Amino acid sequence: AKASGRNTLRRFDPVMQATVNRRVRTEAEVRRALEHMEFEPYYQPQVDLTGRLAGAEALVRWQHPHRGIVPPMEFIPLAEETGLIFGLGHFMLERVCRQVAAWTSVAGHPQWCVAVNVSARQFHHPDFVQEVFSLIDETGAGAHQLQLELTESSLLVDMDDTISKMKALKSRGVSFSLDDFGTGYSSLYYLKHLPLDQIKIDQRFVRGVLDDANDAAIVRAIIALARSLGLNVIAEGVEDRRVQSFLANEGCPMFQGYLYSRPVPRDEFERFFLNGELL
Ligand code: C2E
Ligand code: CA
Ligand code: CA
Ligand code: CA
Repeated sequence: AKASGRNTLRRFDPVMQATVNRRVRTEAEVRRALEHMEFEPYYQPQVDLTGRLAGAEALVRWQHPHRGIVPPMEFIPLAEETGLIFGLGHFMLERVCRQVAAWTSVAGHPQWCVAVNVSARQFHHPDFVQEVFSLIDETGAGAHQLQLELTESSLLVDMDDTISKMKALKSRGVSFSLDDFGTGYSSLYYLKHLPLDQIKIDQRFVRGVLDDANDAAIVRAIIALARSLGLNVIAEGVEDRRVQSFLANEGCPMFQGYLYSRPVPRDEFERFFLNGELL
């Protein structure tokens, strides 16, 4: 058994070694990229029924010196596993808070807020609430202009911790959106117990509403549920004018997707509101 074990190991060795190498290389690279500030938030506008800017979601982009822009799915899971998400998450929160404060000083207090994605590990770090409060204080960002996007996986970790943290942050004006709604477990349980402000309908349902009767039924039900619970609701992944019409007819007041804009760098995003008209 030992010999065959060794053989088996040797047989898979090249593949395993490549995986390990890539992982180690990427972990080292993410660490280096953090030190060299190669990450940057891009902003994707969210619009209301009249097409006006109603918010934005900050999405991290890695401007790699050789590989160009690396999408988050290629390093966020690794950052979560290795704990680098604490540094990366802090960096994103700080950059967004500074940006929000800068926009406020040129454009006055906008009615909309910028949403930042927060990983489960980051949210459940014992210092998370204090970290956000310190950033708000240091940057002068209005807490009302900061929204945190959590996924159900965050909520699953520790419900009591989640609720007490949300309440503390909300007491300063920070709001909460539940991302990827409908794709996790026990969604209704969370809706009943958590002090949420908004739910975000996952794009996997949104995309299908015109072709798939089940997607349409699910989206209709989520919108009705959100409204009856007094929560705002936003649909992500809107790529088609007719999808927006469907959603609007069902009572969804906010949209995000390629139909309006892809996530764009700060200066491009500023044209959406500093130069007056959106779109
Ligand atoms: P997410 O939070 O669900 O973000 C929405 C994703 O859908 C983004 O991909 C966005 O670019 C994309 N998207 C927006 N509108 C459309 C559309 O109309 N059609 C299509 N096909 N896609 C659309 P992105 O930027 O690649 O981010 C992927 C995921 O990476 C995010 O999913 C989020 O889970 C994670 N992520 C991104 N930035 C951060 C961050 O700063 N921190 C953490 N913890 N996670 C992040
Ligand atoms: Ca999100
Ligand atoms: Ca999402
Ligand atoms: Ca997601």
